Amino acid sequence: MRGAPVGLPAVPEFQTSPGMRDILPPESARWRRFVEVFAGVVERAGYGQVISPLLEDLGVFQRLGEATDVVTKEMYDFVDKGGRHIALRPELTASVCRAFVQHRPVVPWKVWYTGSQFRYEKPQRGRYRQFDQVGVEVLGADDPHLDVEIIALGWEFYAALGLRRVRLLLNSLGEPDDRARYVEALRAHFEAHAEELSAESRATLAKNPLRVLDSKREQDAPVIAAAPRIAQHLSAEAAAHFAAVQAGLDALGIPYTVSDTLVRGLDYYRRTTFEYQGLTLDSAQNALGGGGRYDGLVESLGGPPTHGVGFALGLDRTLLACDDEGVFAPPATAVEVFVVDTTGGLEALRLTSELRAAGISCDRAYEQRSMKSQMKAADRSGAAYAVIVGTDELAAGEVALRPLRSDRGQSAVPRTDLLQHLQKALP
Ligand code: AMP
Repeated sequence: MRGAPVGLPAVPEFQTSPGMRDILPPESARWRRFVEVFAGVVERAGYGQVISPLLEDLGVFQRLGEATDVVTKEMYDFVDKGGRHIALRPELTASVCRAFVQHRPVVPWKVWYTGSQFRYEKPQRGRYRQFDQVGVEVLGADDPHLDVEIIALGWEFYAALGLRRVRLLLNSLGEPDDRARYVEALRAHFEAHAEELSAESRATLAKNPLRVLDSKREQDAPVIAAAPRIAQHLSAEAAAHFAAVQAGLDALGIPYTVSDTLVRGLDYYRRTTFEYQGLTLDSAQNALGGGGRYDGLVESLGGPPTHGVGFALGLDRTLLACDDEGVFAPPATAVEVFVVDTTGGLEALRLTSELRAAGISCDRAYEQRSMKSQMKAADRSGAAYAVIVGTDELAAGEVALRPLRSDRGQSAVPRTDLLQHLQKALP
């Protein structure tokens, strides 16, 4: 590491804002690979990618519900130069539903997405103000096998990353009527025990008693443990749907735990909700991803009544879990060949261009450095071979080929044979 050059401050004037990070190489290569693995898993199941804008009318997100912190407290919103009230997206389900209403695609519409989301949260490990997600949504079909397909895709994706310590939690919130009756039973229970609840949960209770179940504060635990259970309020139809989802997961051999306090954020969730937890992560930030079935969101954005089901998985947090488990390391990014040219650099320019065009990755040194300095750069590059051109080689129409990862000595290769030679030598 070099220190700050003389005369420059050690701490630069501008740094990333709180909760925002630069993702540098080689970590950035891991991010890209993460999305590629995800795309592979879901595209095999017939999902196509939706790329939607980072900005939407604020109203699109407000439709997610007034009891959602993401909407009420955490949104980055502003008025643009045209006087529109705009927000940076805090999640992608609302954008996908807006796109569905706008474009009216054939149903079932099976889509996947990736990208950054923005939430003004208190930054900590695994919780950032800009973070990335991958996810899927299916609009326009109401089959429990679809819930199973989606849950299984997330499960398969974690396995593809190499993660083992993941737990799947599953719940059903019932039909809207079941849910409404349950919410009233919960309200009565929590109001009767309001004094024992934390101030935060009392505030949540006023807006949506269901979300009190999300509280991870110790003070709330006993009141939550004694609360009525959704299972007692499921209609026969909702119970059958839930049983079908469980039977599907059993048929695929996917283990799950039924958790009747799992309600998740969106006000529109009905029937299935699920969450994947990373068992190596701190409990406050252990949700790797989650989702569920929702109705009414498309309608509230001006579309026809439409069933929806989907999930969003957090990239940042999932990679923390990968680090904890020692899997899915950044891919090797070393080039195969490093060109060292002490004749002025024009040969390096020609050779790198030729080799790259032939599909061989290669790099070179710049600024006409000394042989010693260029060889150091070659070693640092991690390349398997250095191709060396000095005045003697240039005059003889040759290059010197030196293996950098073995003790074998260098050999002289006619310039015209270099490509063929390398193609044979490289794996
Ligand atoms: P949600 O959209 O809130 O259901 O979140 C889905 C997933 O996105 C979570 O399970 C996390 O992995 C990830 N996530 C949500 N909020 C954040 C955040 N502030 N920082 C990092 N990851 C997040």
